Amino acid sequence: MSSKRKITVAYGDGIGPEIMKATLAILEAAGAQLEYDVIEIGEQVYLKGISSGMEPNAFESLRETKIFLKAPITTPQGGGFKSLNVTTRTSFGLYANVRPCKSFSPFIHTHFPETDLVIIRENEEDLYAGIEHRQTQEVCQSLKLISKPGSEKIIRYAFEYAKKYGRKKVTCMTKDNIMKIADGLFHRTFDEISKEYPEIKVDHKIIDIGTALIADRPETFDVIVTLNLYGDIISDVAAQVTGSVGLGGSANVGEEVAMFEAIHGSAPDITGMGIANPSGLLNGAIMMLVHIGQPEIAEKISNAWMKTLEDGIHTGDIYQEGLSTKKAGTEEFANAVIERLGQVPSTMVPASFDKDTTPMNVFVSPVVKAKKELIGVDVFVDWDEPGRNPQVLGEKLRQANADGLQLTLITNRGIKVFPDGMRESFCTDHWRCRFQNAEQSTISHAQIRELLKQVEELGFDFIKTENLYSFDGVRGYSLAQGE
Ligand code: NAD
Repeated sequence: MSSKRKITVAYGDGIGPEIMKATLAILEAAGAQLEYDVIEIGEQVYLKGISSGMEPNAFESLRETKIFLKAPITTPQGGGFKSLNVTTRTSFGLYANVRPCKSFSPFIHTHFPETDLVIIRENEEDLYAGIEHRQTQEVCQSLKLISKPGSEKIIRYAFEYAKKYGRKKVTCMTKDNIMKIADGLFHRTFDEISKEYPEIKVDHKIIDIGTALIADRPETFDVIVTLNLYGDIISDVAAQVTGSVGLGGSANVGEEVAMFEAIHGSAPDITGMGIANPSGLLNGAIMMLVHIGQPEIAEKISNAWMKTLEDGIHTGDIYQEGLSTKKAGTEEFANAVIERLGQVPSTMVPASFDKDTTPMNVFVSPVVKAKKELIGVDVFVDWDEPGRNPQVLGEKLRQANADGLQLTLITNRGIKVFPDGMRESFCTDHWRCRFQNAEQSTISHAQIRELLKQVEELGFDFIKTENLYSFDGVRGYSLAQGE
């Protein structure tokens, strides 16, 4: 039987085939033990009418090999095409997006020469579930879903990653000063799990100041773990400030399948010119080699690549007059890396990857069931009478009273407008109306059904409901601003 590891390879679009050819040539010359299953993805597949951008046999291939080395693709103009990355992430449960952002100063220009950080972004939850609704003429919503197991998995992955790669600190970023329940769950889970890793320093930053610090003092960060949307934004900020947008690789890791790629796109403007920099995809491939247990080869390639940069052999995108010695095309650059296999950089710190190939211990603990009690309901209504006076709405809705359920509050875009709202509050046509028992005791689903019937009979268009629960007596919903 072959000792070679079979991987799925896609050459992609634009400069994809050029940089993939260069990358595979370097991998082969370095002695990577690989064989390839080549699949078709991208523009031509989309244009055949396959909305995922991947031929059905691509899924079979990934199921078999579990490792995907992917060149960038071109997303066709116009609607109806699903993001191939999102499809792969969600179909194969690739819950962790790992993006190292490192400075290669002075060979790559950056204001922050000491930076070497890794962003670990949750990849499956948050606003990216894409659950959106237009509810009224004026108001749309996107649902942000955060789960305890999802948070635990990505946070544990971040700590295990820090341990495996000799990193010293993990910083969590959330916005839990505002989203106390959803982001609060992520932050609390971080605090719990960090106790299992006493050797690693921990820190939490609110995402806004955290982003500002990445832009201003990126060298103070080591590993950062965060939610999907924040991670998407900060990974571009970090790549930009370290100068690694053109050089960075990224991994999307799941329990079984993992996908490795460059950060950049298919660069249609330079396609076919033989000048594309293969470094981003090569760095993705280096992450892949460590992942599949070939860290020695990864190290050899990474060191030869850094030596090539140090020797001033640069593709056009990173060429600097006075510093670069040669402007190389894609193939020439790849050959320069191949010639340097076995050498180490003299100025930059040589790469050193953990040779321990034991898989990371990422598990999810069973959720401890709390006593869940239904203690009220928020009924959202579309109401657009002239004047939009909350007092008028409140008095009408007070007539709805299902076995003791009473209107306690109305908010508009989260701000309390009834009872005793501020005259100045601007109101849209979207109203959240809270009903509870007088003594805030448990209510029944039958009461909610009766309430909705009465609300409808009063002539209102109810657009959705949210049940109000407590868990072991702890309120599981937010209070309104001004409540
Ligand atoms: P891009 O990253 O392709 O290009 C931005 C600029 O960077 C261009 O000037 C390009 O020439 C340059 N550049 C990018 N990679 C380079 C390299 N390796 N060497 C030298 N120069 C390089 O971004 P874009 O132009 O916004 O997007 C082009 C296409 O790529 C779009 O269809 C987009 O949807 C797609 N895209 C795909 C992925 C992916 O497959 N993961 C990611 C981003 C964008």
